[in-house]
Amino acid sequence: MIYDVIVVGSGFSAIAVTCNLIEQLPASAKIAVVGDDPGFGRGTAYRTELYLHRLNVPAGRMSLLPHHPDDFVNWLKSHGRPLQAGDFASRSDYGLYIRDTLARLLRRRDGRCRVDFIRAKATGCVERYNSTLAFQLGNGDEIAGKNVVLCLGVGNAKLPVDPAGAPLSLRSRIIENPWRFSWLRRVALSDAVCILGSGLTMIDQVLALRAHGHNGRIDVLSRRGLAPLGHVGKPPAPLPIDVEALPGTISSILKSLRERGRAVDDWRSVMDGLRPLTQALWQRLSSEERARFLRHALPWWNIHRHRVAPEVFDRFDKLVSEGTVRFHAGFLKSLRAEEDRLLAGYRIRGTQDIAEIRADWLVNCTGMERAGISHSPLLKEMSRFQLIAADPLGLGIQVDAASEVMAPSRISPARLFTVGALTAGQFWEITAVPDIRLQAKAVVEEIVAKRTIAEAQADNS
Ligand SMILES: Cc1cc2nc3c(=O)[nH]c(=O)nc-3n(C[C@H](O)[C@H](O)[C@H](O)COP(=O)(O)OP(=O)(O)OC[C@H]3O[C@@H](n4cnc5c(N)ncnc54)[C@H](O)[C@@H]3O)c2cc1C
Repeated sequence: MIYDVIVVGSGFSAIAVTCNLIEQLPASAKIAVVGDDPGFGRGTAYRTELYLHRLNVPAGRMSLLPHHPDDFVNWLKSHGRPLQAGDFASRSDYGLYIRDTLARLLRRRDGRCRVDFIRAKATGCVERYNSTLAFQLGNGDEIAGKNVVLCLGVGNAKLPVDPAGAPLSLRSRIIENPWRFSWLRRVALSDAVCILGSGLTMIDQVLALRAHGHNGRIDVLSRRGLAPLGHVGKPPAPLPIDVEALPGTISSILKSLRERGRAVDDWRSVMDGLRPLTQALWQRLSSEERARFLRHALPWWNIHRHRVAPEVFDRFDKLVSEGTVRFHAGFLKSLRAEEDRLLAGYRIRGTQDIAEIRADWLVNCTGMERAGISHSPLLKEMSRFQLIAADPLGLGIQVDAASEVMAPSRISPARLFTVGALTAGQFWEITAVPDIRLQAKAVVEEIVAKRTIAEAQADNS
């Protein structure tokens, strides 16, 4: 069988695309969703069970379907969680909500298209002469489709120092993927933990450690030692910003934003004013300016843009002020063992001096957004066969403004799209639900609009 659309992935992006396909395709259409994650739909972000692992976007902006903006808030209310649009729900509730939304659409019997869920990893992809793209699956099967949407997420960034250099006895205490929370069960309550990276993932890990009763010291090492800032209970109104009036270089844009931030009561109004315009601003930048932004401004951007819920911020801030969590600014240079502990050697920022952090555990929280395509064997293979091209800044896959993959040497007319953070090279601001849900809807509209005349006639007959 040839599918009209194959969706590859099993996180939020895959669900958002699938829900839109179900809403927009006729009953005659056939969709396959290929995902390797047993917690289908929850992905890395929404599989946590810890209540303090909150969304960092208010509930009112987290509806899966942008054309039903109150959907998530209504779902919360109907499930005994009387939260308001401005509140920050738990991520585990959000995971349940997106699975529920999909299930609701699948229960519809009136003219719904066929959807096959295939629990497998896509391992390879080839172009076929019958105008399809065919995927090899880890279970030995192969499936082919006329349209494909890659929703693979991005992998964890690698540690800057090869952990293979650490003694064997200590390697099991280097946590390269902190999203497998099983490591927490092995931590003794008073163990010293060193976390590499100081973004949202670090805060999640600190709160998860505390929820497990951990009372030891936590050292956080990152290039600048900056931690995410918090949302406020009553956010200021977004400041209107005219993107066209902003200058063209990163340094002058940042200068202008800083000036605006100083002129208002709360800098958050500047960030929130910029939020819906960020994609347009990114697309105006030359590739040199984009690279400059990634080199120099990224840590500041991250802490102001990716803020945590007020309650989460207060909890974390208390741990910092009482000295449980300590920050270090520098660059990890070495990992070695001393007796049964790890010694993480780092160059102190702005100096040539080396300092060491002594810990029982080292946890890699260096983030995801710059993981490129190297985390995925499927993408590496597709790149080798020139079915995709890596983004020059290492942000994922090269796509056009319609999220369609740009691979000039492809011959088949089968269409290939990508949704989610892998398209950051084109859009930059494409890691969170408010942006991905719009992208998913737009991709599905593009697929539906370009279905061939023969397909439409077959639907009507
Ligand atoms: C901890 C955390 C918290 C977050 N909190 C928020 C928040 O509060 N609000 C917000 O808007 N955004 C948040 N985000 C951003 C989040 O990334 C997006 O909201 C969204 O979850 C991304 O979903 P995705 O499907 O693109 O990627 P993922 O969730 O990474 O899903 C990709 C899926 O594809 C599967 N897959 C990969 N390769 C293959 C293959 N070859 N074959 C088959 N399946 C494959 C993977 O197993 C995975 O399940 C958070 C992110 C993280 C990591």
